[in-house]
Amino acid sequence: NYPLSDRINAIQPSPTLAVSQKAAELKAAGHDVIGLGVGEPDFDTPEFIKDAAKAAIDAGHTKYTAVDGITELKQAVIDKFKRDNELSYKLSEILISAGGKHSIFNLLSAWLNPGDEVLVPAPYWVSYPDMAKLVGAEPKFIQAGIEQRYKITPEQLAAAITPKTRLLFLNSPSNPTGTAYTKEELAALAEVLREHPQILIASDDMYEHILWADFPFANIAMAAPDLQDRIILLSGVSKAYAMTGWRIGYAAGPAPIIAAMKKMQSQSTSNPASISQHAALAALTGDQSCITEMVRAFKLRHDYLVNALNAIPGMRCIEGDGTFYTFANIEVMMADKGLADDVEWCEALLKENKVALVPGSAFGAPGHCRLSFATDLATLEEAVARITEFANK
Ligand code: PLP
Repeated sequence: NYPLSDRINAIQPSPTLAVSQKAAELKAAGHDVIGLGVGEPDFDTPEFIKDAAKAAIDAGHTKYTAVDGITELKQAVIDKFKRDNELSYKLSEILISAGGKHSIFNLLSAWLNPGDEVLVPAPYWVSYPDMAKLVGAEPKFIQAGIEQRYKITPEQLAAAITPKTRLLFLNSPSNPTGTAYTKEELAALAEVLREHPQILIASDDMYEHILWADFPFANIAMAAPDLQDRIILLSGVSKAYAMTGWRIGYAAGPAPIIAAMKKMQSQSTSNPASISQHAALAALTGDQSCITEMVRAFKLRHDYLVNALNAIPGMRCIEGDGTFYTFANIEVMMADKGLADDVEWCEALLKENKVALVPGSAFGAPGHCRLSFATDLATLEEAVARITEFANK
């Protein structure tokens, strides 16, 4: 009997990683399982990035680096924000971390006190609420349903703010819904936030490049430049460059907050892996056409999957703007089958037809499931055939 800390008892293990693990276990036991739970591109890391890592090893870049990352990589991040977003940052306003998740955790550790409230638009990426709880803060959810394309309105935002609100998460394009905010929508949210200077805005731009909407990418710093000193941009190379295993993320924001995040990092992980930093440097400064190719494939799969799922009785999903996820409403099928909730639905589908999906309640949106299309078209077709069979039983 080990009485663990209140801190660790307050959180759950990542549900998306749990689904992947369950699917892997079934596979290892000889079952023919299709896993659409994963949150990573199926493509290999581009060759020129791998070459840069090999060269880094041979050049002896195998030692500690500066805690906040090598200057060349921080400069590459600055250049990226200039090139893609027309935003200007200084070296003291950039931090390199061991993945996007690490950047977010550093931010919450540096900014939040117990009792502080964190606004989390739902459906949300699974880790925001638990990371907030880890530092003693309280997640407060703003529900956005399918009819509003899973995006919050300025009215909803205004109604959710209290004197205790210290942080707002924004994630566009969104994991799990695939929808993105337009610049105009972000400007309207900014108008509300302008009235509440105590709130810091955490903009998670992890899927910036995986976008095919008929409007260009925007984050709230681009939509409301006057708020830049209250915005932390969070991103990384994991998704755009198929580099999930390399663990490089980055943050950009006001120097005092970045310095506090760096302090947190200095007493926990120290620098992210030196070799991975050199690989990320190649990714950010090299030929960006690898992204275009992956996005083209994701879009084709998206179009196939959304159409196919909408043809299944009791399932409904909307067209996404980007990412490699689609979020399907399954309430009608749950009711038809007499299943109590989306968790039971996912369990039944896995047990009976061997398709692993993540229940929507993991993302704060019961009555849904998330399907990842970071897998080849043939596998998606087989998954659709199995879900159709499940639906028609
Ligand atoms: N933010 C969002 C919205 C994500 O979906 C993910 C990964 O799933 C991350 C951040 C974390 O990325 P990383 O693997 O770089 O930690």
